[in-house]
Amino acid sequence: MKKKDIIIIALALLAALALYLVSQVSLGAQSSVVVVTVDGEEVLRRPLAMEDRYEIAQDDGSLNIIRVQGGAVWMEEANCRDGLCIRQGRMKNGAKTIVCLPHKVVVQLEGEAPVGDNSDLDVIIQ
Ligand SMILES: [Zn+2]
Repeated sequence: MKKKDIIIIALALLAALALYLVSQVSLGAQSSVVVVTVDGEEVLRRPLAMEDRYEIAQDDGSLNIIRVQGGAVWMEEANCRDGLCIRQGRMKNGAKTIVCLPHKVVVQLEGEAPVGDNSDLDVIIQ
């Protein structure tokens, strides 16, 4: 009997954890915005949910190609000398930043709370 109880509790915990993770992932995908700055100036702001490929070309010939796909953003191509931005890999949340130092390009993820979502949240909490 005791073993069964433990299994049931473990399953319930797993289900709760799975639900939590799913809700976190879907919330993140909905609310995140890809923000690209060049030398501190914002040049691009697009929802992470919108899959696309952005070319950041500068007057001096610097080129960075940013890819947004599957809820992640990454530097697909760059003609910088170190290539570090490409090696930084995929970014899925605001905890990370992709930086191309030679080109002064910074790719960030910002949270955006859509208007009207707050009322839905209140219902869930109560
Ligand atoms: Zn780079």
